[in-house]
Amino acid sequence: GDSTSAALEQAHATLGRYFGYESFRPGQERVISSILARRDVLAVMPTGAGKSICYQVPALMGSGLTLVVSPLISLMEDQTRALLAAGAHPSYLNSSLSIPQQNTVLKRAAAGAYQLMFVAPERLADPRFIAFAQAAARPGGMGIPLLAVDEAHCMSQWGQDFRPAYLQIAQFIEALPQRPVVAAFTATATERVRMDIQQMLCLHLPQVVVTGFDRPNLSFEVQEMPERQKTSWICRYVTEHPDEAGIVYCATRKSVDELTLTLQDAVEKQGLDMRVASYHAGMGMESRTQNQQAFVRDDVRVMVATNAFGMGIDKPNVRYVIHNNAPESIEAYYQEAGRAGRDGDPASCFLLWNGNDLRLRRFFAEQEPDDEQLDEEQRLRARQNRFRLIAQMEGYCKTTGCLREYMLRYFGDEDAAAEVLAHAAETGTGCGNCGNCLTEYEVEDMTEAARAAMAFVAARPGRFGKSLVADVLHGGKTQRIFELHLDEAAGYGSLAAESTGRIRNLIDQLCGRGYLASSQGQYPTLLLGPRAAEAVDADGGLVADTGAFTFTVKRAAK
Ligand code: ADP
Ligand code: ZN
Repeated sequence: GDSTSAALEQAHATLGRYFGYESFRPGQERVISSILARRDVLAVMPTGAGKSICYQVPALMGSGLTLVVSPLISLMEDQTRALLAAGAHPSYLNSSLSIPQQNTVLKRAAAGAYQLMFVAPERLADPRFIAFAQAAARPGGMGIPLLAVDEAHCMSQWGQDFRPAYLQIAQFIEALPQRPVVAAFTATATERVRMDIQQMLCLHLPQVVVTGFDRPNLSFEVQEMPERQKTSWICRYVTEHPDEAGIVYCATRKSVDELTLTLQDAVEKQGLDMRVASYHAGMGMESRTQNQQAFVRDDVRVMVATNAFGMGIDKPNVRYVIHNNAPESIEAYYQEAGRAGRDGDPASCFLLWNGNDLRLRRFFAEQEPDDEQLDEEQRLRARQNRFRLIAQMEGYCKTTGCLREYMLRYFGDEDAAAEVLAHAAETGTGCGNCGNCLTEYEVEDMTEAARAAMAFVAARPGRFGKSLVADVLHGGKTQRIFELHLDEAAGYGSLAAESTGRIRNLIDQLCGRGYLASSQGQYPTLLLGPRAAEAVDADGGLVADTGAFTFTVKRAAK
C-alpha cells in the first residue's frame, strides 16, 4: 500500500545518504520491506551479497535501538567504525571493552545515544544487559524495534560453527516486554539449518528471502573419468594455463601430496615458469602459511589443497578451481568452487569424479562418530542428513540438465533459477555457461526401457542396487547374477541393446523424476518412487497407456 511505498522511498534515501549507493540489490529490498512492515525475516544470502545493509538501513531510519547479534568481535568493530564514518550512531558491547567502558556504553545507550548496538550472543544472558534491554523495550522506553541475528546458522547443530550461546537468543526475546521484529541472516543454505533457525529463534511466519547465489561469471563443468585420467586431465589443464592462478581440491592429504609432485614434474618437464605448492592440515603451520601467502602474492600459481584451504582468503584473480573428487555436499562444492572469479572476470570450475568418490563419501558418512550432545533420534537424523547431502551431490554429478539451475534450485534461489531458464528459452543454448548446456544431448523416447526397469524393481523393491539392476536388464553374465539366479528373472536381458552405462543413466533420471527412488545408506538399493503408480501397478504389471517417457541421453560417441 501507500505507507509501504513511502517507507521504501525513505529506505532508498537512507541508503544513498549513509552508504552512497543508488539502489538496493533485489533481495535487500525484500528483506527491508518486510522489516518495515514488522514481519520477521529469514534471509539466506552468500557472503558478499550485502546482508548488513538489510538491518542497517532500517536501524538508521526509525527511532529506538536496533540490536545486532554477531559472533565476531572484529566484525562488530569494523562495522561500527564504518557506520561512524558514515555519520551514523553505532556502538558495540563485547569482552574487548573494559568494565568501565562497558558501563559507559550502557549508560549512553540508555540515554538514547545510539541507533545500533552490536553484541555477542553471550551478552544476551548477562543480567545487567537483560535489565537494560527490558527497560528500553518497555512502553514509554526508547524501544527496541529490531533484533538482527547475524550468522544465524551458529544456532544449528547441523551447521559447521555451532555456538551454544546462540540458543539463548529466543529466551532473551521472550523476556522483552515488547517483541522486536526478528531478522535472521545466514549464508548457509541447507534446508535443515534453515528449519532449525526458524524453530529455535521462534520466528513468526517469517518472510524467507534467498538471493544472490548466482555467479554469472563462473562456468561449470562436470566430467566423469577414472582416477588416472583425472591426473592427466589436470596436468594438461594446468600446464596449458601457466599464467592463470588456480586451485585444485583433493579429498585426502595423500592425494594432495601425490598430485603436487606430479604437477611440479610436469611443469619442470615443459620448462614452464610457474610454481605449484600444496596446503593441507597435515603440514606444519609455517609451510602452510608460507604457501598461502605466496599464492595470494601470485608467487605460487597453483595451489593443490584439501578443503582446509581457502577459509578467509581473499584472492580475487583465481581463474579456475578444479575438484579432483566429488565433495560431501553441494554447499561445500559451491563454496570451494566459488573462490574462483571473485574479481567478476570469467573463471572456470571443473568437477572430475567417478563412483569411487561417492563410495568414499558414503564410507566417511557411515564412519562419522555420533555427536555426544545429540539424543538417539537426532543422531539418526544427522546420519540421514549426511547421506541426503551426498545423494544431492551425486545428482549434480549425474544430471544432464543445466548445472547452474541445479545449484540455484538447491540453494532455493528461485529468482536466479528462473532467470537461467528464461535465458535458456530465449537463446536455445541453455544458460550458455555450463558444460551440460554446451554439450550435445539427444532427447529419446525410452518408454519401453523405463517400464522394464520399473517392473523389475517393482517385483523386488529395496533388494538390489542400481549397478546390479542395470547389469541384469542388460543381460550381464556376472557371477553375482548367476548366484542370485537373476538370469532366470523376468526382464533379464530385456534391454540387451542398451549399454549398462545408458541403463544406469536412465535409472538415475527415473530416480530424479520420482518414478524410482534410492534407499539411503552406504549401499543404496532401488525402490519404486512416489510417481511409479503412473507406470506400473502394485504387482509390477505394466499399466497400459502410460504414454511416452522422453529422456535426455548423451549423444553416443561416433
Ligand atoms: P555480507 O554481510 O552479505 O557478506 P556486506 O554487507 O559486507 O555483505 O556487503 C558486501 C559488499 O557489498 C560491501 O562492500 C557493501 O558495501 C556492498 N553493497 C551492499 N549492498 C550494496 C548495494 N545495494 N549497492 C552496492 N553495493 C552494495
Ligand atoms: Zn547451464
